[in-house]
Amino acid sequence: MGTPCEGSSLDNHGVFHPCAEEIQKWMQKAFEMAKDALDNSEVPVGCLMVYNNKVLGRGRNEVNETKNATRHAEMVAIDQVLDWCHCNDKDPGDVFERTVLYVTVEPCIMCAGALRLLRIPLVVYGCKNDRFGGCGSVLDIPADNLPQTGAPFKCISGYRAEEAVEMLKMFYKQENPNAPKSKARKKD
Ligand SMILES: [Zn+2]
Repeated sequence: MGTPCEGSSLDNHGVFHPCAEEIQKWMQKAFEMAKDALDNSEVPVGCLMVYNNKVLGRGRNEVNETKNATRHAEMVAIDQVLDWCHCNDKDPGDVFERTVLYVTVEPCIMCAGALRLLRIPLVVYGCKNDRFGGCGSVLDIPADNLPQTGAPFKCISGYRAEEAVEMLKMFYKQENPNAPKSKARKKD
Protein backbone atom coordinates (compact mmCIF):
# COMPACT_ATOMS: atom_id res chain seq x y z
CA MET A 1 0.00 0.00 0.00
CA GLY A 2 0.97 3.65 -0.15
CA THR A 3 3.69 5.19 1.93
CA PRO A 4 2.57 6.65 5.24
CA CYS A 5 2.52 10.43 5.32
CA GLU A 6 2.14 13.23 7.82
CA GLY A 7 -1.25 14.18 6.49
CA SER A 8 -3.39 14.07 3.42
CA SER A 9 -2.63 16.43 0.57
CA LEU A 10 -4.17 17.92 -2.52
CA ASP A 11 -2.28 17.68 -5.79
CA ASN A 12 -2.33 20.37 -8.44
CA HIS A 13 -5.54 18.98 -9.90
CA GLY A 14 -7.25 19.43 -6.56
CA VAL A 15 -7.32 15.68 -6.07
CA PHE A 16 -7.21 14.49 -2.53
CA HIS A 17 -4.46 12.03 -1.61
CA PRO A 18 -5.21 10.25 1.64
CA CYS A 19 -2.58 9.56 4.26
CA ALA A 20 -2.18 6.19 5.98
CA GLU A 21 -4.49 7.13 8.85
CA GLU A 22 -7.25 8.10 6.48
CA ILE A 23 -6.89 4.94 4.46
CA GLN A 24 -7.17 2.97 7.68
CA LYS A 25 -10.25 4.89 8.80
CA TRP A 26 -12.15 4.61 5.52
CA MET A 27 -11.16 1.03 4.81
CA GLN A 28 -12.44 0.07 8.24
CA LYS A 29 -15.86 1.38 7.18
CA ALA A 30 -15.64 -0.42 3.83
CA PHE A 31 -14.93 -3.66 5.70
CA GLU A 32 -17.97 -3.05 7.89
CA MET A 33 -20.04 -2.80 4.70
CA ALA A 34 -18.52 -6.05 3.43
CA LYS A 35 -19.40 -7.73 6.72
CA ASP A 36 -22.97 -6.53 6.33
CA ALA A 37 -23.04 -8.09 2.86
CA LEU A 38 -21.79 -11.38 4.29
CA ASP A 39 -24.45 -11.29 7.01
CA ASN A 40 -27.06 -10.85 4.28
CA SER A 41 -25.85 -13.66 2.02
CA GLU A 42 -24.25 -11.37 -0.52
CA VAL A 43 -20.72 -11.63 -1.87
CA PRO A 44 -18.80 -9.70 0.80
CA VAL A 45 -17.59 -6.57 -0.93
CA GLY A 46 -18.02 -3.17 0.66
CA CYS A 47 -17.01 0.30 -0.40
CA LEU A 48 -17.03 3.98 0.43
CA MET A 49 -16.80 7.06 -1.78
CA VAL A 50 -15.12 9.98 -0.05
CA TYR A 51 -15.13 13.55 -1.31
CA ASN A 52 -13.39 16.33 0.64
CA ASN A 53 -13.10 14.06 3.65
CA LYS A 54 -16.81 13.41 3.57
CA VAL A 55 -18.53 10.10 2.81
CA LEU A 56 -20.96 10.68 -0.07
CA GLY A 57 -21.65 7.06 -0.86
CA ARG A 58 -21.37 3.70 0.78
CA GLY A 59 -22.27 0.41 -0.76
CA ARG A 60 -22.12 -3.32 -0.51
CA ASN A 61 -23.16 -6.02 -2.92
CA GLU A 62 -26.94 -6.15 -3.44
CA VAL A 63 -26.96 -8.64 -6.28
CA ASN A 64 -28.98 -11.40 -4.61
CA GLU A 65 -31.32 -9.03 -2.82
CA THR A 66 -32.23 -7.17 -6.01
CA LYS A 67 -31.74 -10.11 -8.40
CA ASN A 68 -29.71 -7.68 -10.46
CA ALA A 69 -26.21 -8.83 -11.36
CA THR A 70 -25.01 -5.24 -11.81
CA ARG A 71 -25.72 -4.14 -8.24
CA HIS A 72 -22.13 -4.30 -7.09
CA ALA A 73 -21.01 -2.25 -4.08
CA GLU A 74 -19.43 0.38 -6.33
CA MET A 75 -22.61 0.84 -8.38
CA VAL A 76 -24.66 1.28 -5.22
CA ALA A 77 -22.21 3.91 -3.94
CA ILE A 78 -22.08 5.71 -7.31
CA ASP A 79 -25.86 6.10 -7.24
CA GLN A 80 -25.64 7.62 -3.77
CA VAL A 81 -23.03 10.14 -4.90
CA LEU A 82 -25.29 11.09 -7.81
CA ASP A 83 -28.20 11.57 -5.39
CA TRP A 84 -26.02 13.74 -3.18
CA CYS A 85 -24.98 15.87 -6.17
CA HIS A 86 -28.59 16.29 -7.15
CA CYS A 87 -29.69 17.30 -3.65
CA ASN A 88 -26.76 19.68 -3.19
CA ASP A 89 -26.85 21.22 -6.64
CA LYS A 90 -23.32 20.01 -7.51
CA ASP A 91 -22.02 18.95 -10.89
CA PRO A 92 -21.36 15.17 -10.68
CA GLY A 93 -18.42 15.55 -13.07
CA ASP A 94 -16.66 17.93 -10.67
CA VAL A 95 -17.44 15.76 -7.67
CA PHE A 96 -16.37 12.39 -9.11
CA GLU A 97 -13.08 13.91 -10.31
CA ARG A 98 -12.25 14.58 -6.65
CA THR A 99 -13.70 11.45 -5.07
CA VAL A 100 -11.65 8.53 -3.77
CA LEU A 101 -13.09 5.01 -3.76
CA TYR A 102 -12.21 2.66 -0.91
CA VAL A 103 -13.25 -0.92 -1.60
CA THR A 104 -12.41 -4.25 0.01
CA VAL A 105 -11.95 -6.17 -3.27
CA GLU A 106 -10.43 -5.14 -6.60
CA PRO A 107 -13.22 -3.63 -8.74
CA CYS A 108 -14.47 -5.91 -11.51
CA ILE A 109 -14.25 -5.02 -15.18
CA MET A 110 -17.72 -3.46 -15.23
CA CYS A 111 -17.08 -1.29 -12.19
CA ALA A 112 -13.56 -0.34 -13.25
CA GLY A 113 -14.99 0.81 -16.58
CA ALA A 114 -17.62 2.90 -14.82
CA LEU A 115 -15.03 4.42 -12.47
CA ARG A 116 -12.88 5.35 -15.43
CA LEU A 117 -15.81 6.92 -17.29
CA LEU A 118 -16.64 8.94 -14.17
CA ARG A 119 -12.99 10.04 -13.89
CA ILE A 120 -12.49 8.84 -10.35
CA PRO A 121 -8.82 9.70 -9.67
CA LEU A 122 -7.91 7.10 -7.05
CA VAL A 123 -9.06 3.66 -5.92
CA VAL A 124 -7.79 2.05 -2.71
CA TYR A 125 -8.62 -1.64 -2.54
CA GLY A 126 -8.00 -4.76 -0.47
CA CYS A 127 -7.53 -8.09 -2.22
CA LYS A 128 -7.15 -8.97 -5.87
CA ASN A 129 -10.03 -10.44 -7.84
CA ASP A 130 -8.39 -13.10 -10.00
CA ARG A 131 -11.54 -14.04 -11.88
CA PHE A 132 -13.16 -10.69 -12.62
CA GLY A 133 -10.72 -7.97 -11.60
CA GLY A 134 -10.57 -4.95 -13.86
CA CYS A 135 -7.69 -3.20 -12.10
CA GLY A 136 -4.78 -5.42 -13.05
CA SER A 137 -5.99 -9.02 -12.63
CA VAL A 138 -7.95 -9.73 -15.82
CA LEU A 139 -7.79 -6.33 -17.51
CA ASP A 140 -5.97 -3.18 -16.48
CA ILE A 141 -8.68 -0.62 -17.08
CA PRO A 142 -7.11 2.15 -14.93
CA ALA A 143 -3.88 2.14 -16.92
CA ASP A 144 -4.75 0.83 -20.39
CA ASN A 145 -4.79 3.06 -23.42
CA LEU A 146 -8.55 3.37 -23.93
CA PRO A 147 -9.33 6.38 -26.09
CA GLN A 148 -12.65 8.15 -25.41
CA THR A 149 -13.03 6.23 -22.18
CA GLY A 150 -12.81 8.63 -19.28
CA ALA A 151 -9.44 9.08 -17.63
CA PRO A 152 -6.79 6.71 -16.27
CA PHE A 153 -6.79 6.40 -12.51
CA LYS A 154 -4.40 5.40 -9.77
CA CYS A 155 -4.78 2.32 -7.57
CA ILE A 156 -3.38 1.49 -4.15
CA SER A 157 -3.87 -2.23 -3.56
CA GLY A 158 -3.31 -4.82 -0.88
CA TYR A 159 -4.80 -3.10 2.13
CA ARG A 160 -6.04 -5.81 4.58
CA ALA A 161 -6.03 -8.15 1.59
CA GLU A 162 -5.91 -11.37 3.62
CA GLU A 163 -8.94 -10.37 5.60
CA ALA A 164 -10.87 -9.53 2.42
CA VAL A 165 -9.99 -12.95 0.97
CA GLU A 166 -11.04 -14.67 4.20
CA MET A 167 -14.47 -13.05 3.96
CA LEU A 168 -14.88 -14.22 0.36
CA LYS A 169 -13.89 -17.74 1.39
CA MET A 170 -16.39 -17.67 4.23
CA PHE A 171 -19.11 -16.65 1.80
CA TYR A 172 -18.38 -19.42 -0.67
CA LYS A 173 -18.19 -21.93 2.17
CA GLN A 174 -21.59 -20.95 3.57
CA GLU A 175 -23.15 -20.82 0.12
CA ASN A 176 -25.41 -23.82 -0.26
CA PRO A 177 -24.41 -25.45 3.06
CA ASN A 178 -27.20 -28.04 2.79
CA ALA A 179 -25.99 -29.64 -0.40
CA PRO A 180 -25.25 -33.34 0.19
CA LYS A 181 -21.54 -33.98 0.07
CA SER A 182 -21.77 -36.28 -2.92
CA LYS A 183 -23.55 -33.61 -4.92
CA ALA A 184 -21.50 -30.67 -3.72
CA ARG A 185 -19.70 -28.86 -6.46
CA LYS A 186 -16.27 -30.31 -6.97
CA LYS A 187 -13.25 -28.32 -7.95
CA ASP A 188 -11.64 -29.70 -11.09
ZN1 LIG B 1 -18.10 -4.69 -9.95
